[in-house]
Amino acid sequence: MVAVLKPGIPQEKIDNLIDWFKSRSLDVHVSKGQYHTILGLIGDTSSIDIDLLRSLDIIESVMRISEPFKSANRKFHPESTVIDINGIKLGGGHFQIIAGPCSVESKEQIVGIAQSAKAAGATLLRGGAFKPRTSPYDFQGLKAEGIEFLLEAKKQTGMPIVTEIMNANHLPLFEDVDVIQVGARNMQNFELLKEVGKTKKPVLLKRGLANTLQELLMSAEYIMSEGNPNVMLCERGIRTFETYTRNTLDLSAIPLLKDLTHLPVVVDPSHATGIARLVKPMAMAAVAAGADAVMIEVHNDPQHALSDGQQSVTPAEFTDIAQRIKKIREVL
Ligand code: PEP
Ligand code: MN
Repeated sequence: MVAVLKPGIPQEKIDNLIDWFKSRSLDVHVSKGQYHTILGLIGDTSSIDIDLLRSLDIIESVMRISEPFKSANRKFHPESTVIDINGIKLGGGHFQIIAGPCSVESKEQIVGIAQSAKAAGATLLRGGAFKPRTSPYDFQGLKAEGIEFLLEAKKQTGMPIVTEIMNANHLPLFEDVDVIQVGARNMQNFELLKEVGKTKKPVLLKRGLANTLQELLMSAEYIMSEGNPNVMLCERGIRTFETYTRNTLDLSAIPLLKDLTHLPVVVDPSHATGIARLVKPMAMAAVAAGADAVMIEVHNDPQHALSDGQQSVTPAEFTDIAQRIKKIREVL
């Protein structure tokens, strides 16, 4: 349930109302906009008399939220969330480009790619240290050492880093990581979601291979309900009957999510297509459709990459993509 308060209500009256809701065992989410304060009520609101609430002199309107996602719902929080990633803002009109290799392979590799990606216009550095691979015989990532190399690249370039977590026991290793990625395969690992929800770190939550947008939003809800509001949703393609591409990029997810939620939407055209030459057109399409950020896999030597070389663009190709994105944003 959402209660919109009339403008200019003294704080004391707002606090009294919040205390009353809390005495009914409800959690209250307060969203202060430019004109209105909105109280989002989480919990069993069946005992609340909606007509009585509407009749209070400080209340402008009350509505029930039928969707099962509450904290992530735009009705709860009409203004778009802006996430502060170590001084870099993402969401609510602040656009960012996340770039880097699928896997961190060596210190030289990640530092070199970070430098060229930054020069081309990337603002955040990605790189996998713990890799979720379909085959146990494939490269599994450099693990803790990979995070150390990412931190070295961060030190040398000043770029905040994004890297994937697969096991909540590894959280201590993520102390200096700026954005924790929860990958597609773990989108419904609810215990992991709860643990990253207990941190206050920005989380990049990727859509599962076969998950609906509502399931994605419910997974965001798991993180937010533990007290972490800093969630970014990532559309990275879903599995369909098409086989020419690795996945099918669901572009309509971007405007749909923007209607449903206040959380920023990131698009990953690399995993969505699995083909390097499709990354540029799909990144441009994502930006045109309103994405708050794109995440692109960049490798210095894609042919010899230890993972996802076929979908990785070179630094030169990335430079061109970043310029195209800039032009699309100017047109918008
Ligand atoms: C990745 O970003 O490298 C990755 C493994 O992505 P996804 O979880 O979307 O497959
Ligand atoms: Mn990858």
